[in-house]
Amino acid sequence: METAKVNLLGLDRKGLQSFFTTLGEKPYRADQVLKWIHFNGVTDFNAMTNLSKTLRLQLIEIAEITTPHILFEKQASDGTYKFLLQLKDGNCIETVFIPEKTRGTLCISSQVGCILNCDFCSTGKQGFNRNLSTAEIISQLWIAVRKLSLLDGQHDHAVTNVVMMGMGEPLLNLDNVLPALNLMLDDCAYGLSKYRVTVSTAGVIPAMQQLREHTDVALAVSLHAPNDELRNEIVPLNKKYPLKELMSVCRDYFKNEPRRSVTMEYVMLAGVNDTPMHAKQLLKILKDVPAKLNLIPFNPFPHTTYKRSSDTAIQQFKEILQDKFHTTVRKTRGEDIDAACGQLVGEVKDKTRRKERYLREINTDAQ
Ligand code: SF4
Repeated sequence: METAKVNLLGLDRKGLQSFFTTLGEKPYRADQVLKWIHFNGVTDFNAMTNLSKTLRLQLIEIAEITTPHILFEKQASDGTYKFLLQLKDGNCIETVFIPEKTRGTLCISSQVGCILNCDFCSTGKQGFNRNLSTAEIISQLWIAVRKLSLLDGQHDHAVTNVVMMGMGEPLLNLDNVLPALNLMLDDCAYGLSKYRVTVSTAGVIPAMQQLREHTDVALAVSLHAPNDELRNEIVPLNKKYPLKELMSVCRDYFKNEPRRSVTMEYVMLAGVNDTPMHAKQLLKILKDVPAKLNLIPFNPFPHTTYKRSSDTAIQQFKEILQDKFHTTVRKTRGEDIDAACGQLVGEVKDKTRRKERYLREINTDAQ
């Protein structure tokens, strides 16, 4: 039986070093190949001219550099750019690029679907299929960097920030997420600053501690409710890891870097979590937590009963918090292509309704 080729795209520097050591090569080959793949975007071993011919031939035999297929890509009227990527097994994931004046943020997925089923989240409502491999996670950045630089010349090196806030809970796929984070930070690959790479979690406490031990990227917590009763309802993971424990981990998360803080994501749901009483409860639970708040106007999706809070309610909520915490209201981007926060749905295999919808979109585009 033929052995499957190793996809080198999914190996970070350490992984590549041990790969080359097993071939009897020196570890510096890892740096060379990292640069070829991630910095130069080369997928053909024959083009890696600083490797010996023998090594190139050997790599062609045992390894590959493959990325998911771009099934669909579309730019919204505000410049937001969405990729629908098809994986080898037919599942699809979504990746979204959000350009702003001073930065370009790529929102990437870590799983096909999500098991946590938060009540207000479109991804959560479509079920869960599997974790993404490291190669599938980093491919999203690899593809975006290449594609966006071809767009109109203005997007050269467009991706300055990465947020793991797409489909899935990254901390339930930590083994594959960590090497991908290493690649994002590695100077031979993407060289992003640790302040510009953010992992977002609904609060998987044991994995938050592991994340902190292995990497120092930024952390965001999907908070969304200021008390356990409400959070149990809209973020069911709270039943396992309640607010008191979660806040205690957040309090200490950056204790060795006192100038850093945890971003608290809070989706604004009309009449559910957006009253002055909720804001005051938030102030209480966040006491002594080095935090900043990001208020996110809810993006409705089909069949949801939730509604977006009014601008007045969001403003009042913000005013109560902003004396104590740096508080921002997220600008809604990419709504016309379903690329706004909480709208990433990809395609979990066997969910034909989604498939049909995407095929319809593609066909409409082609006309
Ligand atoms: S909000 Fe995040 S953790 Fe919750 S279901 Fe959606 S993707 Fe999963």
